[in-house]
Amino acid sequence: MSIREHIAWLEDLSALDAEIRQLEEQLTQDRDALATLKNEMARLEEKIAADTASIAEMGRTRGELATEARQMTAQVERSREKLARARNEREQNAASRELEELRRLQKDREEEIGKLAMLEAAAQKGKEEAEAERAKLVEQLSSSESSTGNMLAEIEKQRDAKADQRKQVAAKIPRNVLSRYDAIRKRKGIAIALTQTGTCLACQMSLPPQLFQRILRDEALELCPYCQRILYYKPPPQKEDT
Ligand SMILES: [Zn+2]
Repeated sequence: MSIREHIAWLEDLSALDAEIRQLEEQLTQDRDALATLKNEMARLEEKIAADTASIAEMGRTRGELATEARQMTAQVERSREKLARARNEREQNAASRELEELRRLQKDREEEIGKLAMLEAAAQKGKEEAEAERAKLVEQLSSSESSTGNMLAEIEKQRDAKADQRKQVAAKIPRNVLSRYDAIRKRKGIAIALTQTGTCLACQMSLPPQLFQRILRDEALELCPYCQRILYYKPPPQKEDT
């Protein structure tokens, strides 16, 4: 097999590799987009569950505090009666201190209940917002999951077809040339570089004239001394003479 043929196969291979890479990138992008939606969904579910739990917990605590406040109302009532029945100053002072203390406790409970009610309302609002977002996302997901799913399957099919073609092309190329090509491709992305007039068109460096002459003669596979890609020659496009 001549160098010219090697180059022709490498060109085919390089074109296929570029297409495969593009398809892979598309797949990654589409999968990422779907994963982002799903992560957002999981985040909302978590928030809604946490809000639901904390609303229930605050509701319970508020109920307990309300019960305590009611019991205190009864105690305040008894304390007032005690004050009314006080027979001397000492009893009167004791009863009024007790009454004051009970009222203070009662006020504390009421304040706590008020605070909890506010927190509950805020949590409820947050939960409702998250639920509205979730409803939107459910719609978005159900449409994009099926369309993305179809698209992914289609792109995968294309990629597999290209990979098959690549295998067939690769099978025609001598193993040492192929492994050199693959090693360069791994490092550089694109492994071959065109030259038309003595400049490497991958890195835009001028090639040493002797090297360019060797490439023109198709004696061996030559690497660009600057970017290390496999060089190949094609004449520049002909300008139309008028
Ligand atoms: Zn180069």
